[in-house]
Amino acid sequence: MAKRKRRKHIPAHAPSASAPTIGNPDQKYPDGVLQIRLYGDPVLRQKALPVETISSAEKELADSMLATLYAIPNGVGLAAPQVGVSKRLVVIDVNREDLDSKPLMLINPKIQSREGEIVDEEACLSIPDVTADVKRAERVTVSALNLDGEPVSIEGEGFFARVLQHEIDHLDGVLFIDHVGGLKRQLLRKKLRHLQQQSPGE
Ligand SMILES: [Zn+2]
Repeated sequence: MAKRKRRKHIPAHAPSASAPTIGNPDQKYPDGVLQIRLYGDPVLRQKALPVETISSAEKELADSMLATLYAIPNGVGLAAPQVGVSKRLVVIDVNREDLDSKPLMLINPKIQSREGEIVDEEACLSIPDVTADVKRAERVTVSALNLDGEPVSIEGEGFFARVLQHEIDHLDGVLFIDHVGGLKRQLLRKKLRHLQQQSPGE
């Protein structure tokens, strides 16, 4: 998911696309940055498969996804299908410019409970230049495994809860625009058709 610029000032020192800040130099993706799949690519509509065993391949993928996320100045979350891998793995860092930034790498995340409702603007790294208001639960509890295979429970509120819901949706082939109805959806249609025609995946 992409954070809208109006929410937070992006400092000049934010990493640029050519300067990934993290990543294992031995990984199979040489520069640590993966290509983001765009709207129209069929992988974004597939239901991703659960990760059965966490091997070095999953750890490398998570590292590369985080490097990719950090290479995008306003990126706060990325799901594996967005880099063309249909597996249930997401990386999230909503505090990426803070000193206490702690990236989350979640395997097989599942929303266990939802509370409240809130509407706010969303954007997606796979759907460039499109934003829309989306109604989401205000608080969620998510169960998942960490990269060591240990069960974790994450409680999210507000923007963090929104990012969790957005990324977990990706694992089921659901995009934020699917939550937009009525007139706004009609207004988006032309823009989406244009994106779809540009996609090599179609
Ligand atoms: Zn997204």
